[in-house]
Amino acid sequence: MRQINDARRGHKAELIKRVAKLEGVSSRFIIDGLKKGTIVIPANRLRNIKTPCAIGKGLRTKINANIGTSPYYGNVSEELKKLDICVKYHADTVMDLSTSNDFKAVLKSIIKKSPMPVGTVPLYEVAVRAKEKNSSFAKTSVDDIFFAIQRQAEEGVDFFTIHAGVTEDVLGLLKKHGRIAGIVSRGGALMAKWMKKNKRENPLYENFDRVLSIAKEYDIALSLGDGLRPGSVCDATDKPQIAELKILGKLARRAKEKGVQVMIEGPGHVPINQIEKNIKLQKKLCNNAPFYVLGPLVTDVAPGYDHITSAIGASLAGYYGADFLCYVTPAEHLSIPTLEDVKEGLIAYRIAAHSADIAKGIKDAKGWDKTVSIFRTSRDWKRHIKASMDPEKAEAIHKRFKTETKDICSMCGEYCPLKISEKI
Ligand code: SF4
Repeated sequence: MRQINDARRGHKAELIKRVAKLEGVSSRFIIDGLKKGTIVIPANRLRNIKTPCAIGKGLRTKINANIGTSPYYGNVSEELKKLDICVKYHADTVMDLSTSNDFKAVLKSIIKKSPMPVGTVPLYEVAVRAKEKNSSFAKTSVDDIFFAIQRQAEEGVDFFTIHAGVTEDVLGLLKKHGRIAGIVSRGGALMAKWMKKNKRENPLYENFDRVLSIAKEYDIALSLGDGLRPGSVCDATDKPQIAELKILGKLARRAKEKGVQVMIEGPGHVPINQIEKNIKLQKKLCNNAPFYVLGPLVTDVAPGYDHITSAIGASLAGYYGADFLCYVTPAEHLSIPTLEDVKEGLIAYRIAAHSADIAKGIKDAKGWDKTVSIFRTSRDWKRHIKASMDPEKAEAIHKRFKTETKDICSMCGEYCPLKISEKI
């Protein structure tokens, strides 16, 4: 893997310099993290990424936005609009999870236009290709699976979710212990079905070296998927989840030995009191590889508001050491997200990541809060709004009662404590 090789040779590759500058750390810090496997830089060697990012220990918590079509809805132009929103609201990476018939055109367009790293789940392509042939994923061959991985590598994908931890043993545990929500990962469910139908071990697990050789050739970072992540707070931290995590830890070690960058995906749905344990366990079992969490949602009872239920979990996860947060939109569990849902999800996750960074003591994180607080206290509305996370929304709300030129707002009016305390 180019960056690790560069790091091993002590070369300050251009990419390392750029991410170091963006993070306000030294190139040496990034190189050391790459060597130890605590930092990854997802960047396919075929792409020239305008806004690259490093993910891992000691760095700003990053956020990913999932976009992409479903079999029901979506097209190239709609997904490119979602990508524009991801750029506008500062996602660090996007994942194209398209499963419509035009998945190839969508991925190609996103890779061409995206200034940031792009990730995928190659198994989705295998499933759509099988459907095109009036077949099913369970009937695909191992070569079909590797054809999609190779094709997407050549297309320029920067990081892959690989569901190699759903093994026969793990599925045996799932059967034995049972669950409320079963398997909620699409890749995990597809793989489990394939294994049952073919009465065979997971081909990504069995042929993991083949995955590694493609990843190495194209400098693709692997994101080892948690196919058995809990989909209900009632299933959190159960035996199948932990058994899979142990396997991912072993696979991560193999990836590192081969010079392939690797991160680990995590839950899912986790009650607040189990989040710290989940993060610490991942770090321990996976030798401190970067942890990429989906939320986690801290309760299951609020569909329509899962950007909030999950951002609560994401901020705690970030604080306890998660490095990369996959956003959740208000449409989670209900529908493919709209453009507005993508925006809402992104803002929720920027808040989660930033609040984690304040608590983790990430360089300059608190400085932003100080700036906004100073403008707020002096009721300097223009600068207060301009410095905020979503100036358009803040301005629209502030304008409701035409107080833009006043030194109070419509909430307390003449009883504004900031104004009163200023005088005393
Ligand atoms: S009026 Fe109330 S809400 Fe508005 S700036 Fe003053 S203290 Fe804040």
